[in-house]
Amino acid sequence: MGVAPGVDVVVIGAGQAGLSAAYFLRRAGLEFVVLDANPGPGGAWRHRWPSLRLGRVHGIHDLPGLALPSADPTRPASEVVADYFADYEREFDIPVLRPVAVRAVREAGADLVVEADGAVWTTRAVVNATGTWDKPFWPHYPGRFDGRQLHTAGYRGPEEFEGKRVVVVGGGTSAVQALIEIAEVAAETTWVTRRPPVWHEGPFTSEHGRAAVARVDEAVRAGKVPASVVSVTGLGLTPEVLAAQRQGTLTRHPMFERLVPGGVAWADGRVVEADTILWATGFRHALDHLAPLALRTHGGGIVMDGTRVVADPRVHLVGYGPSASTIGATRAGRAAATELRTLLHPTPAHVG
Ligand code: FAD
Repeated sequence: MGVAPGVDVVVIGAGQAGLSAAYFLRRAGLEFVVLDANPGPGGAWRHRWPSLRLGRVHGIHDLPGLALPSADPTRPASEVVADYFADYEREFDIPVLRPVAVRAVREAGADLVVEADGAVWTTRAVVNATGTWDKPFWPHYPGRFDGRQLHTAGYRGPEEFEGKRVVVVGGGTSAVQALIEIAEVAAETTWVTRRPPVWHEGPFTSEHGRAAVARVDEAVRAGKVPASVVSVTGLGLTPEVLAAQRQGTLTRHPMFERLVPGGVAWADGRVVEADTILWATGFRHALDHLAPLALRTHGGGIVMDGTRVVADPRVHLVGYGPSASTIGATRAGRAAATELRTLLHPTPAHVG
């Protein structure tokens, strides 16, 4: 196993959060390396389904120092962001090593060691920016379904659902967007969610966004497992959503009780027959490689103060909890670099 020379900081993940952290670590004068499991630039965006066009995303915040160039809104967001991140890495000469999947981060006295297949880095601190895409959440329901099941992480667009009877599970934006496009080609769609969806009328103001972020921040400060920011903002009533509501595509059913060979069944005996179940049930933070540091509380969360892990100030989580949006990730990268500059070189410094 190769041992790389020691660095001040290892950044794990080269999505929005990791690249922002890298930019500010460079400005802080710290030595760092970025390790990314993906084969190329783009973070999780490079995996998003081609029908997720730039014009349909919530909005992608600029990385620090280089604005996202204006692009054709009909281009897949996956391509636009991958190109943008590639330009960004070149422009700022960000040392990203890929594909490098980190398997474990362990204590080594005052240092930490970061282990990947075939290589180990010794570092004074870690900025973890691994996002959620690699940890799709599949809830368990009893029973057996003989049709196809997939998660949104494996969704590639509506084409493959043509003529099928499809059950979509989940109350988030991904579920709503998939339903709207699948309903155009499917024989039948059924939408089930655990809780009734919360619709948000009018534009999402920055005040509204701040309130949602504050709620998630409060949860992670208390060491709870963070809900996604979108889950606390509600679903936007866009013209497309209103049209789908009128057509009945967004008629929501409560969660079924179990799977049956030909579909899904409720406790009252009702059955919906289906060929495919799409689990649009979200993601969890990809943090398994941090398990040796024993950062989690009994409740499964990690007690945070901003981006800093309270139990170990050498570890920062960016793109986590309240910063799990492109704007939050960008700001978190700066906050983590500022704190690590102070921790590792405790002299007055300004990284902005
Ligand atoms: P990611 O982009 O997920 O990057 C994490 C990187 O870490 C990846 O490259 C991954 O390969 C790497 N990695 C993971 N594990 C390891 C490991 N063990 N070792 C090494 N590398 C690892 N937010 C918005 O603000 N606007 C939107 O329009 C928007 N749309 C979204 C649409 C969908 C469908 C989803 C699921 C999310 C959306 N979000 C949106 C949320 C947004 O994607 C994220 O907040 C942000 O892009 C995540 O950036 P990140 O850097 O935290 O993580």
